[in-house]
Amino acid sequence: MKWNEAVLSLKPYQPGKSTDEVKRQYGLEKIVKLASNENPFGCSELVKKVIKDQADSFAIYPDGYATSLRSAVAKHTGVKETELIFGNGSDENIQIISRSLLGPGKNTVMATGTFSQYRHNAVLEGAEVREVDHIDGAHNLQGMLDAMDENTAVVWLCTPNNPTGKYIPETELKNFITQVPEDVLIVLDEAYSEYVAAEDYPRTNQWPQLYKNLIVLRTFSKIYGLASLRVGYGIADEEVISKLEPSREPFNVNTLAQKAALAALEDQAFIEECRLVNRRGMEQYHQFCKAENIDYYPSQGNFIFLHFKYDADEVFQHLLEQGYIARSGKSFGFPQSLRVTIGSEEENKEMIEAIKTFLTHKKEQESPNSFVK
Ligand SMILES: *Cc1c(COP(=O)(O)O)cnc(C)c1O
Repeated sequence: MKWNEAVLSLKPYQPGKSTDEVKRQYGLEKIVKLASNENPFGCSELVKKVIKDQADSFAIYPDGYATSLRSAVAKHTGVKETELIFGNGSDENIQIISRSLLGPGKNTVMATGTFSQYRHNAVLEGAEVREVDHIDGAHNLQGMLDAMDENTAVVWLCTPNNPTGKYIPETELKNFITQVPEDVLIVLDEAYSEYVAAEDYPRTNQWPQLYKNLIVLRTFSKIYGLASLRVGYGIADEEVISKLEPSREPFNVNTLAQKAALAALEDQAFIEECRLVNRRGMEQYHQFCKAENIDYYPSQGNFIFLHFKYDADEVFQHLLEQGYIARSGKSFGFPQSLRVTIGSEEENKEMIEAIKTFLTHKKEQESPNSFVK
């Protein structure tokens, strides 16, 4: 068959191991999954109530304009309804952007060790991918500018970056944006912005009014705890939105997702609580890393990237066999790092204990004589 060449060069997305899979494989009763940066506390109670009342609405197509959700997000962010686009998760917004702007003869610039879907969609569209190495886990913005040329169509920034957790401070980001040519779309993926505490982290809702070639991506999958329902939104200038809209499927955000996101947005007290608990959980890891002398990148997300002196897959496997699922840094280009989602206090404690047993095990292997029976 006449498959597109780009399709043949790609593998399907490899999701983290499912809880059931691991339970069965290792004969375990309990699994703690801290691998996909989901919210360990689920979602707001308001959402659950709203979803329970939706059982009679399934025969009707969703509102393709997401009217009520659009109005609520516009109010929440202080932008116009016409400055928003909704996607089946940020994943779909990334796809919409790629379909609209990338193709053969064009290139796109991103960091190595960042969210995988920028590259995946660019390759699918047949564009050249230019990846720029991080500097100590942070985007090398000058390097990214240097990598651009007249055929660059899109540049992707992830802040805080998945998996390193580092963010781009306001001054640096502005400085970068003003140097990017106006005909290059800058994508600012802020999937974890609600978790950020740093004061110089920019709050960018109004930025697309200043910078017409900027789109900010947000999602309900992370702090809002709605990953299974698939909703994300983009904020951009009306002109950009109207050019992206034809690449969007007509009924891309389903009815349950729209209702759930609307309810989730109303419960900001839940979001605030999740943010606080996440900070405390992060502190548990900082203490642990200090005590055990483990390197890590300071993270503003709901995950932490730990650097070991061992192969990341080995750490991952050891944890897995005890029922703790994390994410190896290997696929991100960090062969000795492990990304762990911050969980509840109890989950963090257990995960930390499990990592400790790995470290003890390695020490025993390395100096067997010091552990004479
Ligand atoms: C999780 C994640 C996404 C995907 O979000 P969805 O809305 O669930 O598609 C996008 N970008 C980054 C950086 C992420 O970590």
